[in-house]
Amino acid sequence: MALDVQKIRQDFPILKELVHGKPLVYLDNAATSQRPVQVLKEIEDAYLKYNSNIHRGVHHLSQKATEAHENSREVIREFINAKSTKEIIFTRGTTESINLIAWSFGERFCEKGDEIIISAMEHHSNIVPWQMLCERKELKLKVIPFDDSGTLDMDAFQNLISPKTKLVSVAHVSNTLGTVNPIEKIISIAHENNIKVLIDGAQSAPHFKLDMQALNADFFVFSSHKMYGPTGMGVLYGKEDLLNELPPYQGGGEMIETVTFEKTTYNELPFKFEAGTPDFTGSVGFAAGIKYIETLGIDSIHAYEDELLKYATEQLKSIPGLKIYGEAEMKSSVISFMVNGIHPFDMGTLLDQMGIAVRTGHHCAQPVMDRFGISGTVRASFAIYNTKEEVDTLLNGINRIAAMF
Ligand code: PMP
Repeated sequence: MALDVQKIRQDFPILKELVHGKPLVYLDNAATSQRPVQVLKEIEDAYLKYNSNIHRGVHHLSQKATEAHENSREVIREFINAKSTKEIIFTRGTTESINLIAWSFGERFCEKGDEIIISAMEHHSNIVPWQMLCERKELKLKVIPFDDSGTLDMDAFQNLISPKTKLVSVAHVSNTLGTVNPIEKIISIAHENNIKVLIDGAQSAPHFKLDMQALNADFFVFSSHKMYGPTGMGVLYGKEDLLNELPPYQGGGEMIETVTFEKTTYNELPFKFEAGTPDFTGSVGFAAGIKYIETLGIDSIHAYEDELLKYATEQLKSIPGLKIYGEAEMKSSVISFMVNGIHPFDMGTLLDQMGIAVRTGHHCAQPVMDRFGISGTVRASFAIYNTKEEVDTLLNGINRIAAMF
């Protein structure tokens, strides 16, 4: 179904804002998307009508808030086709989800000399937790390289695998290069070698249809704020059997079954991994963001954004001296570029003066910059409310700035 983007834009009041007197062109969606009124309304209702601490109260409000929180978990389960809500752990986001697994999986399954594999195009959130684990447990971190187009070297991946490899953790979509990685292949190769797999879905969950049962990843993580939902909210999906084997990451709150000074026993999934007062307005907002996506249809979103990406790529390539970083065959919603050596910071600042929001710098992926021998890029990234006219505005802006230098 074709989407009515002008109608969709009405749902996002921020898009009517002026920036430096110019209409806002928001092209920083890979960092965070905007929120539609439908999501804000659900969060407002939660605070205004049934705010209460969940799970612990017999009173009406607490029960209502608990129900809303658990219904949100079900909305997310259905969205990613997980088998059970026990497999949906609420976290503060992708970063916390990865840290949780790096700690708990490392604690349970890793011994000195074991190996973890990541790729060279990971966000720092999918590098640093593994480095911390490697330091803590004396493991070795191995890195899958990528070629000039931003495509992972799958032969190198196979060669990195050893009997010591315990886990592979890779991005579904690179936040810097836009590459869509062949995660199905990575998962099947890893599983053939008895290795577990974590997929960082921060940049794919907003754009792709996901099916955990078909994908067969052991862990899959993503953030609400890139999916039209609130900040500080995310999910760790994990296979139930595996999550059952892992020790809890933090203690306190609903994660206990019984506590004495001699011994504490832990609650069942998913609560075992949710210490402290859960962010129930966050989960309600997250589910509202997902419902918003579902109302439009994830396949329609994907098709529209793909069209926009192709259009933007063609247009940008027409600018003399513009180089795109990341030209893999399969890409999604992100274009990184540099123009004639103009510093990305200068380009970003001047575009901002024109009302155009892009991201500049290393995009929390410094090793990607090192790979290309640059300090940063300009990154434009798209969401469902962006238009070809906005791409044209970006193009005009870049051309004007290039002429100035
Ligand atoms: N991984 C990737 C691929 C990302 O793009 C991001 C966000 N830029 C993260 C991890 C971290 O997500 P969060 O900050 O929401 O935890």
